[in-house]
Amino acid sequence: MALATRVAVLIGGVGGAKLASGLMHVVAPERLTFIVNTGDDFWRLGLKICPDLDTVMYTLAGLVNRETGWGIAGDETAVMDSLEGHYGVEPWFRLGDKDLATHLLRAQGLRQGNSLTEVTDCLARRLGVSARLLPMCDEETPTLVDTADRGELGFQEYFVKHSWRPIVKSIKHKDCEKATMSAPVSSALETADVILIAPSNPWLSVAPILAVPGMRQALKRADAPVVAITPIIAGAAVKGPTAKIMAELGLPVSEAAVARFYGGIIDGFVNDIRNEPLRVEGIRAVRLNTLMTDDAAKAALARDALDWIAGWAA
Ligand code: GDP
Repeated sequence: MALATRVAVLIGGVGGAKLASGLMHVVAPERLTFIVNTGDDFWRLGLKICPDLDTVMYTLAGLVNRETGWGIAGDETAVMDSLEGHYGVEPWFRLGDKDLATHLLRAQGLRQGNSLTEVTDCLARRLGVSARLLPMCDEETPTLVDTADRGELGFQEYFVKHSWRPIVKSIKHKDCEKATMSAPVSSALETADVILIAPSNPWLSVAPILAVPGMRQALKRADAPVVAITPIIAGAAVKGPTAKIMAELGLPVSEAAVARFYGGIIDGFVNDIRNEPLRVEGIRAVRLNTLMTDDAAKAALARDALDWIAGWAA
């Protein structure tokens, strides 16, 4: 299976973007749709910040800073330096100068009355992205993290300001009941040949997408197999707070706990070769090298996962 397959991917930021770039090598870009978490989004300096949308967009456009996995390569921070140095703006959340160009255009597009779906499409196309990039919904459903030591925090306060140190008690998706699934998201799920859940943080990046009303039902209803890729390798997260949050929520830090979290939605699970075989009822599993250390490993994972799923029909 490859080029002609229509693939829809539920995806977060940096971890998910690695798979996204792998998929670009094995699937025709116009057949790829990324349904991106917007639970991390927030407003700052009059600008709407969409960290996961921008990470995936910059990755697909070949602009991403490959060292950090987010932001634009070679960007500078003259505007932030001035905001902080001259105006005393709190320095905890920073944006590069070139990155600010994206934010200015997004803010303008939204203020003109366009939806986030429309504005994202316009930005991505101007950057030459030929895959479809869709926010999970147009409404704002900010992720709130209730912590033992600092009470309820907005996602970016938890993640960036406090460097995900606070102990997580629970996670909420504010106003998610008011969100609606957009027509492009519905159509991408209905027409896909394969639906993937990227190895993104299940609790912070994928749960907000699943909280959009109708999303779980659409995944269950979809003709396409739904397959998740493990973010947990050898009892740890490759990066970020996934394992820490699992432990704090009282879950075992294991790929099986992730597979169970997606129970009722997924048909298959791409486990890692370093993990024990997965045995969760009703879920097919395979072990592949899911550690995406370079471009070759990213493409190999995308190709091997799609080949495995194609074999189901045989
Ligand atoms: P964020 O929104 O920027 O935090 O990024 P994501 O939610 O998309 O991804 C974070 C998750 O990606 C973490 O749970 C990591 O364990 C996982 N991850 C990062 N790199 C890799 C990798 O190379 N392989 C696998 N299997 N998981 C990865």
